[in-house]
Amino acid sequence: MKTIRSPLAMTAWSHRMRRDGVVIGLVPTMGALHEGHRSLIRTARLRCDALVVSVFVNPTQFAPTEDLVRYPRRLSQDRTLCRQEGVDVCFEPTAAGMYPTGFQTIVTVPPKARRWEGESRPHHFAGVATVVAKLFGIVQPDLAVFGQKDYQQCAVVRQLIKDLNFDIRLIVRPTVRERDGLAMSSRNVFLSPEERRAAPIFYHALLAGRRAIEAGMIDAASVQAVMRKILGAEPAIRIDYLTLCDPDTLEPLERIDRRTVILGAIRLGSIRLLDNVLARGKKGPRRS
Ligand code: AMP
Repeated sequence: MKTIRSPLAMTAWSHRMRRDGVVIGLVPTMGALHEGHRSLIRTARLRCDALVVSVFVNPTQFAPTEDLVRYPRRLSQDRTLCRQEGVDVCFEPTAAGMYPTGFQTIVTVPPKARRWEGESRPHHFAGVATVVAKLFGIVQPDLAVFGQKDYQQCAVVRQLIKDLNFDIRLIVRPTVRERDGLAMSSRNVFLSPEERRAAPIFYHALLAGRRAIEAGMIDAASVQAVMRKILGAEPAIRIDYLTLCDPDTLEPLERIDRRTVILGAIRLGSIRLLDNVLARGKKGPRRS
């Protein structure tokens, strides 16, 4: 496995590959790789000839008050995982390499980025869209694999690919979970033992919401009540948002009579956890 740090060298490598007709896959990450990342890497490995995993903790997607400095960094373990999974290139740019002096262009994000995560983190998706566009430009992949865990991020990237004419196939993989249901995340290491014990209730609440919908509950407020009651049993949890939305536009739904995504973010102490599940609502009685 090659380690490449310079964006120019990365692009030169990709040019050589593309000249020879090699299909390039990209898995963008912020490192501290876990089984969720491994599942994306395995999916990409099966679908491309040459696989690039980027490891870059992107400063532009963190607000000054957020955890950029303490975000976990474990580069040598990340390289080991990449090597085990047959990755061809671990692309590890520096912040100065990605954002040299004089850098000015920021991608403006679509309305679907302004809700939910966008409300709690107003500059987050502009940072994500900008770095993803840069990675696409540098690596020039034929396909890129992202995780459903960051559902709204996938929606923003899908829109970015379409609007900016990237000729890249987006593949979204399901969320990989701990045995008790907690979605794997690089930030889980920051949970105290007490918080870690409480955390899986989040997924269980989302599943209860899905069960209610699939049993025919049509009214979003009632489904919300089911989920909030479960989360309410855990005093350490504060709900940031919990919503039932159209899976494409991410607009909130009042009647759940079609495909729906239940999106949520909670706070446990100083840690913010994201999760989501898809559900299929039953067609309600026709309104005259
Ligand atoms: P991150 O390193 O957290 O920026 O995540 C890099 C990629 O891995 C993103 O596409 C995430 O959605 C995905 N990812 C993170 N956690 C999981 C998980 N538990 N299961 C599947 N994919 C994940």
